[in-house]
Amino acid sequence: MTGEPQDDCLFCKIVAGKVPATVVRETETTVAFRDINPQAPTHVLVIPKVHYRDAASLAAGDPAALADVVREAGEVAADEKLDSYRIVLNTGSGAGQTVWHVHAHVLGGRGMQWPPG
Ligand code: 5GP
Repeated sequence: MTGEPQDDCLFCKIVAGKVPATVVRETETTVAFRDINPQAPTHVLVIPKVHYRDAASLAAGDPAALADVVREAGEVAADEKLDSYRIVLNTGSGAGQTVWHVHAHVLGGRGMQWPPG
């Protein structure tokens, strides 16, 4: 658990503007940008500017920032005119997490299956 920017973190670099991204929304505490490998017509990642590895760590270390991420996910969905959408917080490699800076996937614009794969 940290909060401080990490030199080796891809998403900290996006926050700092050192790695380009298609940013769709930005607030004082969050950045939302399009996923480089979209899995749905809308696939946006919402991240806190502070560095925490996963949602539970963010909830423990900076709960207001987690609330900001979830609220921004809803704003992305509204901007994209999505009636239905999915917010995904992959946690741990077994669940598919590959970037160790917490991020909410906002997925929509197609039918969704349950249970997820
Ligand atoms: P995870 O698998 O950790 O839940 O999600 C990481 C997401 O980050 C993946 O959907 C992947 O496509 C996306 N991603 C990885 N590298 C980049 C990048 O450099 N730019 C953007 N915009 N998305 C990335």
